[in-house]
Amino acid sequence: MTECLFCKMIAGEIQPDTVYETDDVLAFRDINPQAPTHGLVLPQRHIATLNDIGTGDTELIGKLYLAAAKVARDAGFAEEGYRAVMNCNGRAGQTVFHLHLHVLGGRDLNWTPGSAASIHAGLGAPWDGGVVWAGEFPSQTGW
Ligand code: AMP
Ligand code: ZN
Repeated sequence: MTECLFCKMIAGEIQPDTVYETDDVLAFRDINPQAPTHGLVLPQRHIATLNDIGTGDTELIGKLYLAAAKVARDAGFAEEGYRAVMNCNGRAGQTVFHLHLHVLGGRDLNWTPGSAASIHAGLGAPWDGGVVWAGEFPSQTGW
């Protein structure tokens, strides 16, 4: 039996709050929403992280984004804007190791996400992030 939480949902052992499903992808409401609408979109097949996708998965990854856009349309915020984002491994905050897109909408979404940006909270409006970050990482070397 699988130990993966999302595989248990796919297998029907745990019932997610499903909003969309195809043979390839499953979308359901996040149990701990970070926005008025917070969906998760994942492949029906277990892939642990973004690092584990291969060249044979390109169509599947496209289907994840198609499903994310559908979730956004169905939730009614496709035109006003939303975020479809994937965390990879510990430093990005991945806690469930079954590939998934977060689909967040229904509120303003600051850029960039995460605690490093929140250090600068109060230094400016959400969208002048370029100013906030100027000089913070002066040399993006080594990549
Ligand atoms: P991540 O931290 O990027 O791996 O995202 C995992 C997400 O799964 C988090 O946003 C959790 O709130 C969500 N989550 C964990 N358990 C459940 C569950 N039983 N049903 C729905 N969402 C869940
Ligand atoms: Zn899994």
